Amino acid sequence: MTFNYRCTICSASYEIRPEYTVCPHCAPNQKTDQPLHGILEVELHGPASDKFNIAELLPIEPEFFPPIPVGNTPLWEPRRLREFTGLKQLFIKDDGTNPTASFKDRASCLVSAAARKFNINEITLASTGNAGSSMAGIGAAAGQHINLFLPESAPPAKLIQALQYGARVFRVNGNYDKAYDLSLIYSHLKGGMNRNTAYNPLTIEGKKTVSLELFAQLDRAPDAVFVSVGDGCILAGVYKGFKDLLQLGYIGEVPKIFGVQAETSDALFRAFHCGVFETIPTSTVADSICVDVPRNGAHALSLLKTYGGEMMTVSDQEILEAQSELSRTVGLFTEPAGAAAYAGLRKAIGALGPDSLIVVLTTGNGLKDTGSAALGVEVPEQCIDTIDDII
Ligand SMILES: *Cc1c(COP(=O)(O)O)cnc(C)c1O
Repeated sequence: MTFNYRCTICSASYEIRPEYTVCPHCAPNQKTDQPLHGILEVELHGPASDKFNIAELLPIEPEFFPPIPVGNTPLWEPRRLREFTGLKQLFIKDDGTNPTASFKDRASCLVSAAARKFNINEITLASTGNAGSSMAGIGAAAGQHINLFLPESAPPAKLIQALQYGARVFRVNGNYDKAYDLSLIYSHLKGGMNRNTAYNPLTIEGKKTVSLELFAQLDRAPDAVFVSVGDGCILAGVYKGFKDLLQLGYIGEVPKIFGVQAETSDALFRAFHCGVFETIPTSTVADSICVDVPRNGAHALSLLKTYGGEMMTVSDQEILEAQSELSRTVGLFTEPAGAAAYAGLRKAIGALGPDSLIVVLTTGNGLKDTGSAALGVEVPEQCIDTIDDII
């Protein structure tokens, strides 16, 4: 198998090298407050082996991968939820079991491997929290230096986690969008590799492994996948995996993808319906999908239109209800952004066939943000002294 980058706008092709991030021809037309213009996508050439092998479908050789077990996350068969929803073939792919407890490890792992391959030892990024703690943990395993730009509102657990792994953290007086811009300036001035989501094409490529794993676990493609959306990189990664499987003849059709956003941070949803990206300041209980300008928005939108995907929104209340419902009926405690995907499924149930094979991606562990999870439960106010207080 051989690999190259191809621009999703002008179709120019480039070698896979660290100096390529967004397309050099298209990037000068970047408008402020708009999704990245000229996203590069990895293109595969060559026939697939008879035996399905995920490593063979990745553009960086296994010898460069950091020694930390990313991916191969479990596929749950939630019996009680199947009964409850009437969906007999409902599965949950829990990416909260990754080493740093979020889906982001899939992207960090491939970026870390590329940095090692090209002898780069410093990686810089902006993050709402999970990408940063992920890159920090994976960088620690690889022995790489990580610079992280984190908005001041990031949940404490994600900040502490990144610091524990030894990252250099710059707390930004502002939101994720500001952190994103500052981290790019820093990279331009200081060099090294930048892992900003979508800006580094290997982030989307790394995230495709979830679809390849689903194919390996199910021995077919699902009919539908529910995924929460912030910048639209996981969505694009899910599509990329299925596109590769289609190209190589492993599957006959790309599944229907449902992208789920928070009602109060819904830039991609709005663009899906009206065609333009408008910046409105946003906030939601699901910090991992709280994004004003979805950096991979334009690319994600074109994938949704090409493959018949759907965008939907859910309220913060619905996210919190979905979170506790998953905890209580499945035993799976996921952070609000992970629960948003399930909240989307709950809303779409009427449109799904009871026998269709459906996968919900839960993207981060619930312990990442106990502040938000606390809003969905009642913490007992009184402590007891003796057993007589409660009998
Ligand atoms: C980053 C993240 C998302 C959203 O991914 P995007 O690529 O930004 O759309 C969803 N859930 C969790 C837990 C995340 O960390």
